[in-house]
Amino acid sequence: MSKLIVQKFGGTSVGSIERIKAVAEKTLRARNKGADLVVVVSAMGGETDRLLDMAKEITEHMDRREVDMLLSSGERISAALLTIALHAIGCPAISLTGRQLGMKTDGSHTRARIKEIDGARTKKLLSENHVIVAAGFQGINEQGDVTTLGRGGSDTSAVALAVALGADQCEIYTDVAGVYTADPRIVPKAKKLNSVSFDEMLEMASLGASVLQIRCVEFAKNFNMPIVVRSSFRENDEGTIVCRENLNMEQPVVSGVMCDKKQSKITVKGAPDNPGIAAKVFSALNETNISIDMIIQNMSDDGLTDISFTLPTADSLEATKLMEKVGKEIHANNVSCDSDISKVSVVGAGMRSHSGVAAKMFEILAKEHINLLMISTSEIRISCVIEKKYAELAVNALHDGFGLSSDSSGDTP
Ligand code: ASP
Ligand code: MG
Repeated sequence: MSKLIVQKFGGTSVGSIERIKAVAEKTLRARNKGADLVVVVSAMGGETDRLLDMAKEITEHMDRREVDMLLSSGERISAALLTIALHAIGCPAISLTGRQLGMKTDGSHTRARIKEIDGARTKKLLSENHVIVAAGFQGINEQGDVTTLGRGGSDTSAVALAVALGADQCEIYTDVAGVYTADPRIVPKAKKLNSVSFDEMLEMASLGASVLQIRCVEFAKNFNMPIVVRSSFRENDEGTIVCRENLNMEQPVVSGVMCDKKQSKITVKGAPDNPGIAAKVFSALNETNISIDMIIQNMSDDGLTDISFTLPTADSLEATKLMEKVGKEIHANNVSCDSDISKVSVVGAGMRSHSGVAAKMFEILAKEHINLLMISTSEIRISCVIEKKYAELAVNALHDGFGLSSDSSGDTP
């Protein structure tokens, strides 16, 4: 049996007809080596935003079902164009939408979760020698309505398909050479990592490393599907392998420094300090599938307390409205939202066996006179919320301070 490879190409990689033709050539080369191929595509670069902007010209308050109808079209276009490009160079190929791929999701429009993939048709088409060009980012709910998997969701489509079809490899082609120690646009000394573990990648993705969507990494971890992330523009580049263990021989304590400027902080002020209040606040949020990150509850004063949490700024309008409603129900004083914050974090599997990383991080930030507004930790991550204006300074200081800027680790971009 030949090897089955799932390849995913992001928006930049299919951003123009020239690039789509180049992807087709690349696909044909992989196929000529004997592999069966499923090629998952994103919408052409900027297309999803363009579609969304058109809807926003009409109203900011769109029905999420209709947003899915609108946005899923972007991936259909690139899938069809790539298939046409493959045909033009003599490669048998067929494009499939989420529905045709059997991609079944829950009903949460614009951020649906995959429930099940019925891969029967895809497998049959593969056995008939087609390259499958899959429209990423989309599925269907129980009623057969189109759903989408959240921004960046084509990564998740790719990994889920790789798992469902029993692929030997999942390759994600993007516009960067792999996963970096920090965002090279913010930290000029950032280096490409050869390997990161699922856990590290999960933390990095949840901290705003936009190279892979977080759900995709969760999926890959749950099903132990290694992912290779590499540039679609460079041939024979190794990229970064994301798998169970960080494969670096000498594991650094900190593998990466992250900065997420697209975070906001919502505070529910003066809520009664009673059992069940936090449950009310967070179960309301949970129903919307909005992912909450740091949570702080202040010490009670006169039986009243403040609950603050951070979340993606993109969801902050919806969450603030929801919190205003919940706030009334629980008789809180008011609800406020602060978008002038950033979250800086250090991540590393090596932290499991090293203590003192938090202390070192706080020292480095203190030296730069940066005040910490919130702190949270996990087994392999420490995050601080700071004022947005210090984000660049903080990340560069941490990158230097934890030795990631020296010549010993990784490749320079
Ligand atoms: N086109 C969608 C987006 O821009 C999905 C993706 O690119 O993965 O978010
Ligand atoms: Mg993407």
